[in-house]
Amino acid sequence: MNYSDRFCVKPGSTVKLDKIDAGFRDRHEDQASALLEIETYTQRLREQQYRLYAENKRSLLIILQAMDAGGKDGTINHVLGSMNPQGTRVYGFKVPSAEEAAHDFLWRIHQAAPHRGQVAIFNRSHYEDVLISRVHNLVPRKVWSKRFELINDFEKNLVDSGTHILKFYLHISADEQLRRFKQRIDDPARHWKISESDYTEREYWGDYSRAFEDALGRCSTERAPWYIIPANHKWFRNLAVSRIVVETLEALEMEFPQPMVDIREIKARYHQAEVEAVRNGKKPKGKKRKKGKD
Ligand code: ATP
Ligand code: MG
Repeated sequence: MNYSDRFCVKPGSTVKLDKIDAGFRDRHEDQASALLEIETYTQRLREQQYRLYAENKRSLLIILQAMDAGGKDGTINHVLGSMNPQGTRVYGFKVPSAEEAAHDFLWRIHQAAPHRGQVAIFNRSHYEDVLISRVHNLVPRKVWSKRFELINDFEKNLVDSGTHILKFYLHISADEQLRRFKQRIDDPARHWKISESDYTEREYWGDYSRAFEDALGRCSTERAPWYIIPANHKWFRNLAVSRIVVETLEALEMEFPQPMVDIREIKARYHQAEVEAVRNGKKPKGKKRKKGKD
């Protein structure tokens, strides 16, 4: 079974996160045994992004959500970092600025949507508005509960306009989160990553889990699916995400655009003439300037 089917949240299904094994690693013993596969998919990902960029017809939006220390940054770095930066943009969505907060919740998101030929990666997203906003009562229930439908409509609009959307929930266990916090405390190079709020938010683990379950179940659609990625093992998370992106892009069978010029003519008339000139020791001449003009 391909990973897209395996980890996809079926539209309309009820999600129970504590029933899903965050430590799953398929048939792989450890990172070493998966290395070749990870490299293969990373390479295929690079090739597919090159085609998407060259084709310049559609775009890809990758959304990453997780509990704190769930590995969003690591996923961007290891998996998506293999793509050519020229056709890629990463957006991190933090607490809305005063200007952003004065608009509807999708305003800032829409502006960051990818244009044709581009891959956009969202580190957090509009889903925060049905997660933290719900858990901390930043808006009343009657406001956030309408957002699932608004999100589905918004994503439909993007898809209808040529954007492919893949949404990944990086699933770690509460124990694994604590282990990662400890690593951050023990390693001076990671101190900058830890904050008090990591611990205070952990108190709301259950509330966040319910909020995620609703968001995943209600906003996984055929056109913009959610995937729940077992992410306790960072290497497995990297493998699963890159594999799903590759499966999606390869299924599009993207073609390089037809040349705008007659390649045979270019070769015979121009290229061959240049080759001859070089052989005869001639250098390319600059255009003669007309006198009186600069
Ligand atoms: P991360 O934890 O994603 O690696 P970070 O630690 O570098 O990011 P933070 O400022 O801790 O940066 O994280 C961003 C914070 O902004 C999160 O607590 C997130 O819940 C919050 N946030 C994002 N979008 C919204 C929103 N729409 N409304 C309220 N808070 C939001
Ligand atoms: Mg944080």
